[in-house]
Amino acid sequence: MLKIVLWILVLYLLYRIVRPFIRVRKSKDKKNDAEDLQQCSHCGKYAPVSGGVKRKFAGKEYYFCSEKCKKQSLD
Ligand SMILES: [Zn+2]
Repeated sequence: MLKIVLWILVLYLLYRIVRPFIRVRKSKDKKNDAEDLQQCSHCGKYAPVSGGVKRKFAGKEYYFCSEKCKKQSLD
């Protein structure tokens, strides 16, 4: 009986030790999600949404990595 209790304790402690690392990883992933990368509709380059240009056309939203790409796609 004592062995089982000890094992549970050991596993619980291991869980406590490992859990913060898992949490850090998850929060890092969330940060990456916040800096969403979108593919440029013109050149195909991936760029962060915050630094790009969006344009609505025929009900669809297109994303461009720069104003230059947006202009070129209009030609
Ligand atoms: Zn582009």
